[in-house]
Amino acid sequence: MVKLAEWRGKEMFGKYGVSLPRGAVARSPDEAERLVRAGAVPLPCVVKAQVLAGGRGKGGAVRFANTPEEARAAAHAILGLEFKGEVVKELLLEEKLAIAQEYYLSITLDRSLRTPIVIASAKGGVEIESVDDADIDRQPVHPFPGLAAYERRRAAKVLGVSGPVAKSLDALLASLWRAFQEEDAELIEINPLARVGDGLVALDAKVIIEDDAAFRHPEYAEIRDDRTPLEEIAREKEIAFVQLDGNIGVIANGAGLTMATLDVLKEFGGDPGVFLDLGGTDDPKKVTEAFLLMAQARPRAVFLNIFGGVTRCDTVATGLVDAMRQVPDGDRFPLVARIRGNNEKEGIAILRSAGITATPGLKESAQAVVAASRGPA
Ligand code: ADP
Ligand code: MG
Repeated sequence: MVKLAEWRGKEMFGKYGVSLPRGAVARSPDEAERLVRAGAVPLPCVVKAQVLAGGRGKGGAVRFANTPEEARAAAHAILGLEFKGEVVKELLLEEKLAIAQEYYLSITLDRSLRTPIVIASAKGGVEIESVDDADIDRQPVHPFPGLAAYERRRAAKVLGVSGPVAKSLDALLASLWRAFQEEDAELIEINPLARVGDGLVALDAKVIIEDDAAFRHPEYAEIRDDRTPLEEIAREKEIAFVQLDGNIGVIANGAGLTMATLDVLKEFGGDPGVFLDLGGTDDPKKVTEAFLLMAQARPRAVFLNIFGGVTRCDTVATGLVDAMRQVPDGDRFPLVARIRGNNEKEGIAILRSAGITATPGLKESAQAVVAASRGPA
């Protein structure tokens, strides 16, 4: 999931003509003060921690300032704080607007309806979590025609706006719908959307880009820092690879079998760590790549659990033996293979002749790898 910080979300909104407070990003108290003095941020202003978690308003991570010195002090107080597990490194400073009312507005995917929905409430703001369900409108939208005029009017009715404010809302919804589609978003949320005079201004922005579309958005490449370096390499090679604590590496084919394998190892007292899902591939080159990646994660032992449905056990075994030869001596680890299914006998023979423990039995091989993971390093 690519979650955008508020300032990035607002930058994106700006491209679609959404009204925003004037503001700028600061990464130090000095810079915060300078931006205010230079007029990039009008006074009075708001100083907001740029973390991905919500609830900043209630948690002291949104502060107000009337002078450049106060902006500096607020920046000083917030930067470096740990907010819900995330250290604050960036701030958004923006003009403090005179809010007449706070609304909630979002477009997201409803997975059970299998369609986008527009969610709207006249009771937006920091208390949104405790707003009565009856006060929140959820309107499914057919993705092909998109958000129709009558659907936008329904939103205006829900928010209780009319005249020029309704007109602003209509334009805003059209922009947000376009952004939702064009940016491959799975969530676009504005809470609060503030009425300021006759206009509507997005005071907050929460945007999540659909992970499977992330490749279309190189502009967000740098913010995917939740991956380990090895996970990043794996992603480029299109290998499903996840690094956890634990000392047994798991290579399996298919997400279901991979998860079940982790469970089985736990059941026998093992501590599975890195896991790698080969998916449907038996391409020896891919198996080799996956294996070398696994070696770099330095597991104490590796459990290979392959079910050959479509995948052929002998080609997986060939790739594996080839990969084993390429692992540098210092990075070698005990390997136990459980191979079952299509061409199982051939696969087991290939592995055994290369000196790898291989059987079709799940229990015995799981126990063998757990024992190996406890053996001398
Ligand atoms: P969070 O959702 O993390 O609590 P918000 O950005 O929604 O953070 O800010 C919390 C509250 O602070 C808002 O509901 C609003 O009342 C106030 N606020 C935020 N930005 C501004 C602004 N530019 N001008 C005035 N008030 C603001
Ligand atoms: Mg908010």
